[in-house]
Amino acid sequence: MATFDRFDICEAYAALEADYNAGGWLQERPSNQRRKEACSVQLDRIGFKPGAGWRGYDSLSDNGKEIYEGAVERLGLPWHPSAGTPAQEELREVLASGLFESAEEPYFTWRGCEVNLVRGCRPVGNDVYDVKGYRSLDDARGGEDNLIEFRCCGECLNYAVNGEK
Ligand SMILES: [Zn+2]
Repeated sequence: MATFDRFDICEAYAALEADYNAGGWLQERPSNQRRKEACSVQLDRIGFKPGAGWRGYDSLSDNGKEIYEGAVERLGLPWHPSAGTPAQEELREVLASGLFESAEEPYFTWRGCEVNLVRGCRPVGNDVYDVKGYRSLDDARGGEDNLIEFRCCGECLNYAVNGEK
């Protein structure tokens, strides 16, 4: 359980803001916008400025990481900041449609999983399955031009198929 520590909280939210604002997630939702602003105000008030060596999430204390992860869960954000980009949305549509097939055996690659759907997923250096499929029946009817191929880790695949994290 995360403990209340004002510095940890501010650092965690600074990391969240740095990680997620590029993807637009924090800005798109009115409630998140409100939280973000509330945090910015708070950060200003205590004079918090990340130093040059500050590396966002990686620089957080264990408590800060718990706060960060709790916020990600509560706000319904994707587990990786880069998640939620148009390209990844496309891959998730394929997984959601069920119109895909995956290779029997995974293989290791430093290029990692392209989907980034769950916390256990690593975008670099991961065992992945080659997956190919269509986003919709219409796409499938349209033929192979619409076939989308990508690398997906077991965690993301399991979540897509069974709905379990
Ligand atoms: Zn994954």
